[in-house]
Amino acid sequence: KHTERESLYIVLNYAKTFFQDHMLKTDEGRGIGLSYFRERGFSDPTIAAFDLGYSPDQWDALLNDAQTKGYNPELLSKAGLTVTREESGKVFDRFRGRVMFPIHNVSGRVIAFGARILKVDPKAPKYLNSPETEAYHKSQVLYGIFQAKQTIRQEDVCYLTEGYTDVISLYQAGIKNVVASSGTSLTIEQIRLISRFTQNVTILYDGDAAGVKAALRGLDMVLEEGLNVSVATFPNGDDPDSYVRKVGAEAFKAYLSQHTQDFIAFKTAALLKDAGDNPFKRAEVITEIVGSITRIPDPIKRQVFFQSTARQLSVDEQTLISESNRLIRKQH
Ligand code: ATP
Ligand code: MN
Ligand code: MN
Ligand code: MN
Repeated sequence: KHTERESLYIVLNYAKTFFQDHMLKTDEGRGIGLSYFRERGFSDPTIAAFDLGYSPDQWDALLNDAQTKGYNPELLSKAGLTVTREESGKVFDRFRGRVMFPIHNVSGRVIAFGARILKVDPKAPKYLNSPETEAYHKSQVLYGIFQAKQTIRQEDVCYLTEGYTDVISLYQAGIKNVVASSGTSLTIEQIRLISRFTQNVTILYDGDAAGVKAALRGLDMVLEEGLNVSVATFPNGDDPDSYVRKVGAEAFKAYLSQHTQDFIAFKTAALLKDAGDNPFKRAEVITEIVGSITRIPDPIKRQVFFQSTARQLSVDEQTLISESNRLIRKQH
């Protein structure tokens, strides 16, 4: 007898194959799903590496197929694959007419799905994700970690992006050490998952105001967990996926090596943009940087960053250290 979680893995793996087969072996799937991915520039090996698929545009295609194969409808529901309408009690497929991104855990089991609508429409969410289940705790998962982990170890750095397609496009461009937090804001558990493979994180969030804000928040969390963090930002409006498609793999790598900033340089630039020449605002920026450094658990690293901040911002190092001590006292 399987454990409940084991049964969920089995039905999720079945669903993954169902969506793959539907995309690769039916006219509807090839005409809609496969063409969608091809238009986004994904090659066949890339599509296979991420087990991408397409869910039929019907109310109960998966439910019916699963039942003919002997899967218990209760199990489909526990796996988040079906939903039950409250008023009528009717059961139907959660994912319909969407391209499917299976989410794998670190050992390669499918534990959930992300599903993208084909044409963005204000009436429906662009991405629909599996709910929390016995197999899927979204705060503990990083999209792409299974495909990325070996390269993260080899390169000793993990690129952290926002979305599924960022991971896939960079992978295809030969940058395989990349994961995404996929719509949730970064969590401590996700950072600890990265720390099993490397102590170095480079944040590659979208080049918009939301991306910068998320990067500022994310870097403080990464620092607090004792990891090293850098940030690269993209020209306005681009995300890693759109940018690598625009410029190509080699130019993208060159861009990264030229535009990756340590967290102090990134944070200073991001905050000073709004501060202008206002000395009070500039002082606040310095306090903010000291706040980030204060989160670093290792006192030797803290020391090094106080030194480099003092240099970069032309302030006295002792002033930074006493400000840091003041912040620590304030917390207690
Ligand atoms: P695409 O390039 O396909 O439009 P994206 O990854 O660039 O997608 P973003 O809008 O930048 O999309 O969002 C980043 C990530 O946030 C997505 O990959 C997805 O995981 C998640 N996300 C976006 N919109 C939603 C939504 N409406 N509901 C749930 N998650 C979402
Ligand atoms: Mn975005
Ligand atoms: Mn995008
Ligand atoms: Mn994006």
